[in-house]
Amino acid sequence: MEPSRLELPADTLQRIASELRCHMTDERVALRLDEEDKLRHFREHFHIPKVQDLPSIDLSLVNKDENSIYFLGNSHGLQPKLVKTYLDEELDKWAKMGAYGHDRGKRPWITGDETIAGLMTDIVGASEKEIVLMNALTVNLHLLLLSFFKPTPKRYKILLEAKAFPSDHYAVESQLQLHGLNVEKSMRLIKPREGEETLRMEDILEIIEKEGDSIAVILFCGVHFYTGQLFNIPAITKAGQAKGCFVGFDLAHAVGNVELHLHDWGVDFACWCSYKYLNSGAGGLAGAFVHEKHVHTIKPALVGWFSHELKTRFKMDNKLQLIPGANGFRISNPPILLVCPLHASLEIFKQATMKALRRKSILLTGYLEYLLKHYFSKDKADTKKPFVTIITPARIDDRGCQLTLTFSVPTKNVYEELEKRGVVCDKREPNGIRVAPVPLYNSFHDVYKFINLLTSALDSVATK
Ligand SMILES: *Cc1c(COP(=O)(O)O)cnc(C)c1O
Repeated sequence: MEPSRLELPADTLQRIASELRCHMTDERVALRLDEEDKLRHFREHFHIPKVQDLPSIDLSLVNKDENSIYFLGNSHGLQPKLVKTYLDEELDKWAKMGAYGHDRGKRPWITGDETIAGLMTDIVGASEKEIVLMNALTVNLHLLLLSFFKPTPKRYKILLEAKAFPSDHYAVESQLQLHGLNVEKSMRLIKPREGEETLRMEDILEIIEKEGDSIAVILFCGVHFYTGQLFNIPAITKAGQAKGCFVGFDLAHAVGNVELHLHDWGVDFACWCSYKYLNSGAGGLAGAFVHEKHVHTIKPALVGWFSHELKTRFKMDNKLQLIPGANGFRISNPPILLVCPLHASLEIFKQATMKALRRKSILLTGYLEYLLKHYFSKDKADTKKPFVTIITPARIDDRGCQLTLTFSVPTKNVYEELEKRGVVCDKREPNGIRVAPVPLYNSFHDVYKFINLLTSALDSVATK
């Protein structure tokens, strides 16, 4: 997390505008930004949905051959073109040699997950031994909590955000119940101050300082699914561990979005899904991280035959030889058909690198923010004009790709007008629309076009 050393988005926009002798809002600025973008060719590796195939499109408002403006990679990433090829490779192998596929080919099925784990190391900042690809996100969260949450009469709480993703909330609730604890007393929820949308770091640190002695596990998200707030993972980790807590993160909206250094930050455990920024397709193979320092002390609570060392696994002698570290948390054999799409996507990440992606992302989202503020800020002179508020933090260090917008007109209507015009984003309760330009496949021109479509959508809502 060192974007402060990079050129700030506003400086880049100004430089280009003055080179082109035009205003920063000019379309030529977007086109020049795309020309200068060294990652722009990665867009070709993905299927970009066409507007004509979208279910809510109004064909009188769009040119049907056009690409949609896909700003929903935070929720469901696009399909890499190689997914089909990789799936075909395993289907062919299955067709041609049946069970022999277990130990043959590019992805032997027995070690299918392990063949691609190395592609994840730079994305989460961990060694291969600390990473395991298995199950789905919430399942992994449960498995990790079973090992890391060992409440005692004095230390029995789990600290998490009041507006955590529902699945995480339920997972924590049920873990507390599993230990026979009173949920109200043991689930320590932290919420933003009255009238504020995002959490303040100082408030998080204060709770940890005051109540840390009774907290067993701190579970935070890396990037908040609704507000898009990026938390200071190393600072929360350090503060929690100083109080003797285990500190874990749900990285669903952080992985593939911001740079992570889980090992160096000393994070105890983490988990993530792969169908959001990592583009593995719905229900894709999820991941988990257990820090190397726990290799001899933290054991999986539930095991299966894939927790057993490969060398002796097929001796079938029922004497468990537990794999140390994260890989011991595996229970079943890996789903090879879920390995394929993730493989295709992680290879693209490997070429692009998280560092370069984050650099582009800062500029891409900064450009979006600039245009939103320029065109849709609350205008005191014109009270009839709809305006847009960005609830995502303005500081670059406090956010990733996503901006969450609220409107002075009904969100539902704005969303419907955007959908009709081929913008793919989503609305989330209570009243936000989330837009996430993704550096792997979105362009600066996408952002420019989005702003035009939003203008037209808001005009249409205002005149109804
Ligand atoms: C997307 C998301 C989930 C989804 O959980 P699954 O187990 O993959 O269905 C859970 N938690 C968070 C924070 C998420 O963003």
